[in-house]
Amino acid sequence: MYPWLTPVWQPLLQGVRERRLGHALLLKGMAGLGKRELAGRLATTLLCQHTNNAPCGMCHACELNAAGSHSDLQVVGREGRSIGIDAIRELSRIMGESARLGHGKVAIIERAELMTDAAANALLKTLEEPAGEATLILVSSQPERLLPTLISRCQQWLVPLPDTQLALAWLQEQGVAATPAALSINQGSPLQTLDYLNTGADDKRLQLLTALAGLGETASHLPTVQAGLLEQPVHLVWVQLLLQDALQVALGAKAPLKLDDCQHLSRRLAGTGPLALHELNSGLLELRRRLQPGQGRPMNAGLQLSQWLRRLQQTLTHE
Ligand SMILES: [Zn+2]
Repeated sequence: MYPWLTPVWQPLLQGVRERRLGHALLLKGMAGLGKRELAGRLATTLLCQHTNNAPCGMCHACELNAAGSHSDLQVVGREGRSIGIDAIRELSRIMGESARLGHGKVAIIERAELMTDAAANALLKTLEEPAGEATLILVSSQPERLLPTLISRCQQWLVPLPDTQLALAWLQEQGVAATPAALSINQGSPLQTLDYLNTGADDKRLQLLTALAGLGETASHLPTVQAGLLEQPVHLVWVQLLLQDALQVALGAKAPLKLDDCQHLSRRLAGTGPLALHELNSGLLELRRRLQPGQGRPMNAGLQLSQWLRRLQQTLTHE
């Protein structure tokens, strides 16, 4: 199990052993912290036939769970863009049946925020009925999107962000060269950072930001930068972090920079002054809002992006 889960896993385990856990639990915390694995381990522990030593890894229930074929464990929400009422009704029906192995039943709803209103209301009804031996585990990285009445019926468990040193040490153990900047870009999530580093995104970021900061000297790579950003508008967040760092330098603030490995670039940008940076930053925010994934690409997105890049280039040229 991931080391940063220990502070939440220990009390959960204690709760299982002392039979103090509620019939409905909500595991919440930002994406990329391993909440799904935590829910799976909790389910395995609840279903294990050796209660005092759970999860023992040796009993029939543990073997079935390891093979992913325990009929007393139901999981919904792993795939698809929403969780509909049919899935929840089916889940409730199965949960109402008696346990095959006599150690209760467990249902996990991953990405619970994707439940439709009808699905959430159906689940609420299920929770209002006597729970019997069933335990429901909701997993969500956006609990604010859940019905408040649903949340209030759940025992809530927060999976906290690991501290930077622990996250960096774990990443190093995975064989990647992680920096505080890479972790910062991924909002402190070790799993997202690992994915980010393994896909070579960090090199792309350094290339992109170096090219942007160099626009004052040469505009020859502007078309490449523009094409790249239009294809991957999500990379604009890197540009935004660099601009924010530059603004911080320009204002003489002492707080540590987010992209500490791009200090030479943020210092170069800082030369354009806080006012220009502030304007560029507002323009970029607007651009990011328009290019958000799932919004569909506005007709003139390419034009807006190129206007913004031209403005950046002009600012850098006239500093
Ligand atoms: Zn077991």
